[in-house]
Amino acid sequence: MSRAADDPCSGLQQPLLSVEDTVATLLEHAHPIEENERVLLGEASGCILAHDLVSPVDVPGFDNSAMDGYALHSRDMELAQTRGLLISQRIPAGVQCRPLQPGSAARIFTGAPVPEGADTVVIQEICRIESDRMVIERPAKAGANIRPRGNDITAGDTILPAGTLLQAAQLGLAASVGIAEIEVRRRLRVAVFSTGDELVEPGQPLAFGQIYNSNRYLLNALLGALGCKVVDLGSIADSLEATRAALSTAAAMTDLIITSGGVSVGEEDHVKAALQSLGELTLWRVRMKPGKPLAFGHIDAVPFIGLPGNPVSVFVTFLLFARPYLQRLQGRMQTPPLYWPVSAGFDHRGSNRREYLRVRISGDPLSGLIAEKFPRQGSDVLSSVAWADGLVEIPENIHVHPGDTLRYLPFSEWTR
Ligand code: AMP
Ligand code: MG
Repeated sequence: MSRAADDPCSGLQQPLLSVEDTVATLLEHAHPIEENERVLLGEASGCILAHDLVSPVDVPGFDNSAMDGYALHSRDMELAQTRGLLISQRIPAGVQCRPLQPGSAARIFTGAPVPEGADTVVIQEICRIESDRMVIERPAKAGANIRPRGNDITAGDTILPAGTLLQAAQLGLAASVGIAEIEVRRRLRVAVFSTGDELVEPGQPLAFGQIYNSNRYLLNALLGALGCKVVDLGSIADSLEATRAALSTAAAMTDLIITSGGVSVGEEDHVKAALQSLGELTLWRVRMKPGKPLAFGHIDAVPFIGLPGNPVSVFVTFLLFARPYLQRLQGRMQTPPLYWPVSAGFDHRGSNRREYLRVRISGDPLSGLIAEKFPRQGSDVLSSVAWADGLVEIPENIHVHPGDTLRYLPFSEWTR
């Protein structure tokens, strides 16, 4: 990578914030909503666990067989190879069993309790049956194929800490200790509206100069995936009054307001003035591309995040800024997203702002992953996001050459 000459426009009057400082400042202002609700486990997917979950039981609750085969005591192994052992009982999963008579074996199945007096399960593949006896063809290791009581969980273990996002594995784990209902943070209510006189809803005819409202669907889906209840206020005309009215309505019924568009400082951008007249607002300029303008403020105690208008900017700024903020509000335990090293499969001259290019990865993690960029990287080109599987960061004032190592953030990082 080579550092390009500084852009003459970079010495702007208003300082540009770094992405990291923007996230840090947002998080300083994010106060978790401390209200919980009890939900059935089957309805808890996507919720955030309110308290540490402690197991009331051992899992498994009894020594059990890991395989289909024969349970015996290891001291009878030799006998089992010569004369064989009498099959004294049959133990399928889910049944009670009797103590094993010495010198005998029990037919046993995966998950079935290992009877008292047995310490080994020999897999059926190395056994043969001779009338009422089983004979093993080669010795098995003493203690093999038994899953001891508490192998997974011991009663009293904290199996999930407060703040955990409940997804498939966590729900399965909670079920495995017998939890039927679970206390979670209540879902956040988030008001969303788009601004712009040019916006038309899909399904309606377009007049010249109009565009379809894509941000509405983009944001609704992003918020839904984070477990939020969306209060969808549609699109709002570019007027101070309409913007004020929408903001007041939103503030009265939600935990957070997110808007798209209207946060630049043009004559048709009314979000700033509307918010300032109702509460307080800071307009930030972030040293990034796509993105840059970002608004943050409050109406009474309800926070407000104003994302830019261009759909690619909405997507990227939502994921970088709105998402961690929301997760803090939700009381979610946060782990910073994990970047991977990838090789650039392209040439790219960076700018005086950090860029987030939409890329697709190919190759093999051991021999090297290669990022290809979507050919058109404009902040209006939503096809780039739909095509890509992640973003690469292009540091400021860098010329990227093919083969250079870049930081790649897969979109899948945002669903963990
Ligand atoms: P603004 O920040 O309002 O000046 O908008 C910047 C650009 O994003 C303009 O080209 C808008 O037409 C476009 N835009 C704003 N809102 C939306 C939306 N909801 N859906 C699609 N494009 C939008
Ligand atoms: Mg606009």
